[in-house]
Amino acid sequence: MTILSSPETLTQQTAPHAVTLDGITKTYQSKAGKVDALAGVTHAFPSSTFTAVMGPSGSGKSTLLQVAAGLDRPSKGDVLIGGNDIGKLSEVELTKLRRSTMGFVFQSYNLLPALTVFDNVALPLRLAGKHPRRNEVLAALDQVGLHGLHRRRPAELSGGQQQRVSIARALISKPEVVFADEPTGALDRQTSRQVLELLRQVVDDRGQTIVMVTHDPLAASYAHSVLFLADGQIVGHLERGTPAQIAQKMSELEK
Ligand code: ADP
Ligand code: MG
Repeated sequence: MTILSSPETLTQQTAPHAVTLDGITKTYQSKAGKVDALAGVTHAFPSSTFTAVMGPSGSGKSTLLQVAAGLDRPSKGDVLIGGNDIGKLSEVELTKLRRSTMGFVFQSYNLLPALTVFDNVALPLRLAGKHPRRNEVLAALDQVGLHGLHRRRPAELSGGQQQRVSIARALISKPEVVFADEPTGALDRQTSRQVLELLRQVVDDRGQTIVMVTHDPLAASYAHSVLFLADGQIVGHLERGTPAQIAQKMSELEK
């Protein structure tokens, strides 16, 4: 496990694929019987790309994100992060890897209400046992357009501002890949657009990788490519699709 003793080497190396899913099956046992939330998913997410994952409700989008981020273990198949098979890691090793190479953005922001904006953004560094430098945190806030708001609490911000705080928090540890589950689901159109432009910039200017689950064709059109899921399988792929093309594809799947 040389990688885990020096996580920096992992983030510095430029693996051609940030995340690889190889033959992933995820089976849940429920009262009604077994459910294959993912049924044989193989896909490699190239480094420095923005991919949207779309599909009808229940198609396995959230499960795919959870498994890709190592938050949930697959029933079958391998997940590689930057070329490293995470199935071989213990929970402690996996948590370390997650903190050094991944960022997360959720629909509901998941900010800690008692902490200031500054402390929310600094949290991942503290959890990783580092001392956040003040300038580093303020620069992350500048980058998402929140200059001067670092002393506020989340409740003193708009929804769009709170989501930018959560993006700054996801980016502070310079992760190789950011996983986002419906990041604009709670935002109005105008604010969504700003958040999506910001995510796209992160990929285009800084070379980070984003995997974003969304049900909104307009949101998906900010990605380089769109992956379509149905019944736990990849059923389509669109490169640089327009909102209309993406919506068309979605309506075919929902038939
Ligand atoms: P999506 O995000 O596309 O709506 P999910 O990944 O949440 O889909 O779910 C895919 C399928 O797996 C659904 O049929 C869902 O009911 C089932 N599922 C998800 N999580 C669980 C779980 N913890 N236990 C049982 N079934 C689950
Ligand atoms: Mg979901």
